[in-house]
Order: sequence, then C-alpha cells, then structure tokens
Amino acid sequence: MPVGTAGTVKAVPQDVLEDLGARIILGNTYHLYLRPGHELVRKMGGLHKFMSWERALLTDSGGFQVFSLSELRKVSEEGVSFRSHLDGTSHLFTPERSMEIQIALGADIVMAFDECTEHPAERDRARRSMELTLRWARRSKDYFEAHKHENPWNRAESADREIGTSGDRVIGEPGDPILFGSAQPGAAAVHALPTAPALFGIVQGGMYADLRRKSAERTVELDFPGYAIGGLSVGESREKTMEMIAAVLELLPKDKPRYVMGVGYPEEIVRYAALGVDMMDCVLPTRAARHGLLFTSEGRLNIKNARFAQDQNPPDIQCRCRVCVRYTRAYLRHLFVSAEPLAGVLNTIHNLAFYLDTMRSVRHAITLGDLTGVLSGSVS
Ligand SMILES: [Zn+2]
Repeated sequence: MPVGTAGTVKAVPQDVLEDLGARIILGNTYHLYLRPGHELVRKMGGLHKFMSWERALLTDSGGFQVFSLSELRKVSEEGVSFRSHLDGTSHLFTPERSMEIQIALGADIVMAFDECTEHPAERDRARRSMELTLRWARRSKDYFEAHKHENPWNRAESADREIGTSGDRVIGEPGDPILFGSAQPGAAAVHALPTAPALFGIVQGGMYADLRRKSAERTVELDFPGYAIGGLSVGESREKTMEMIAAVLELLPKDKPRYVMGVGYPEEIVRYAALGVDMMDCVLPTRAARHGLLFTSEGRLNIKNARFAQDQNPPDIQCRCRVCVRYTRAYLRHLFVSAEPLAGVLNTIHNLAFYLDTMRSVRHAITLGDLTGVLSGSVS
C-alpha cells in the first residue's frame, strides 16, 4: 500500500496511482487531524471525495506519528497528550478520539489506537506497553462499534442508497485473488462499498516473541476482521523483524487479512508475503525516490551518481512503467541534480510501479502455488 500521508501520495496524482494499479492507499490520522482537520474533511464528504480517490483507504491510528513526530508527548491510561509539530498547540489522542477522527475521515479500514513500543525497550516496559495497547484495543472496539455508521458517506448519502450497498469502490483487479470479503479468487473484483468501515487490531510486544504471542492471542480474542503487526522496523535487525512476524503469524487467523505495518525493502516484502502476510505499507518507495534512490530489477540505483550522466538506458530495463518507457537515466539524473520538481515525480512513479509489480508477481505466484521464482528473482 502506497502511503499518502496528508491526503496525497507525495508527488503522484491520483489518476497516475490508478494507472499504476494501486488498489488501496494509506492516510495518516495525525497529519490529517492537524491539517486540514478531520471535521473539514468530513464536511467535504470524507477523504475519498476530498482527494478524489474512489478506491480503498486505510488510516493509521495516529499513535505511531504521535510517538515519532510530536513534542512533549505524555502517555497515560487515558491516552497520549502531545504538542503539534506544526504550531505547538496541545492535543489529546485517546482510543475514542482516534476512532472518531478515522470514522470522520471515512476510511475503509480503521486501525485500533495502539502504543508503538520504542526500541530498544526492557522486557517489563515492553510488557506494560503491550498490555496498555490491549486495553486501548478494547476501548477502540467499543467506541468503533457504537459509532462506525457515522462515516461521511452514510451521513451524506444514506437516504438514496440501499442498505448494504453504497457504491462500487474497486479494491481488486480482474483475475486477481481478492484480498477482502468472502468473494472467491477469480470472482468479479468490484465490491459493494460497505456501509461501515472495518476495524483492525494491532499486535505489539516489542522484540520479545512470548510477549508478541500473548498480544496476538489476546487481540484475536477481541475478534477483529483483520490483524496488524505493529512496532516493527523501528531499528531492530531484519532477522529480528522476521522472527517476530513468524512468531505472531501462526496465531493470527489465516482467513483474515494479516498486515505488517511499516515494511520494507522489495526483497523483504516478498519474504514476508511468503510467510503469509497479506498487507504491507511503507514510505520507502516514495521517500527514497525523493532522495534519488530507485528500486530496479538490477538492484538499487542512486540516480545522482555521475556514471548515469550519459546513460541512455531506461531507469529499469525490465520495467514497463510510464517513466521507463519514456525517459533515460541520463535525463532523470539531470532532473535530480538540477533539483527539478519533476525528478521526485518521475522517481516516485517508477518506484511505486516497481513495488506494485513486485506484489503483482507475488499474487500471481500464489495463484500458481509456487513462490520460489519471485523469492529468488527479487533478492538484489
Ligand atoms: Zn519503471
């Protein structure tokens, strides 16, 4: 899932995301709450209408950004008080507040409010943080169940919609296995838009496998339609990330979406998918692109490198994206070293194409029942 922090996947217009085959993107609760504000977005008909994106949207809980961006945060049983990184004003995020904001934004998938445990953390600290996340998951669910129908499209359009359907948001592609719902692989990929979003629980527990397993078991007891593994990619080794994911996955229901938050490099997301992970998000393809780093079938290219100054090859010889069929490495290097805005646009489009193609290959391999090809092909 490409990350659209503030109602935009940075540098890429929505129609291009559609052409690239992005079926779901992220919005960040913390950023949208601070600017332009969730009540404004609700008034504009919700984030889908506001940003003109008809496909699926997932919002994070705001927890991670509060922990990483805001100043003077203070965690209590009630929630997290913090100061805005924009203007220093004071705010309080609670599980209930996070649900209210995400419902107002009109996300299709809402994430439970959690505490992203810092790394490294002592075992006792990780245990207390994990238990706080469980109590917040219960509060998130209680508030969500009572208010989930208060989303913008229900408020604005419920009068002229039938119960159970309110549109035809596309979250699949013809022929692709379906990620959500009860549809069988290969069935028509156009889904009726549900009248309420889905709330996913989040597993925490730091870097302790037994705490992770306990968190998974107790989160599953709360019965969510999907589960995320949070608090990874926070500075631990890749082996540790893999160990934590493997420990948790075997306890999460196979028939529900299993989502690892905030990962990873192309070769890593293939390995996680092979373990059984269904969903991932990462700022890496977009953020790296703005720093001139391209992911290609030959590995990573730093496009500002002088060796590309007269290179007439496309960024990735094997890629068929709109950037690779039209432009050369020499031109992309020129744009980047000249600090032209188009550099970030073109680099981002290619990187997203590479990530989405990677996952398309994974889905294809899964339908064929053999992931060995993509596993060996993607390790750079
Ligand atoms: Zn490309």
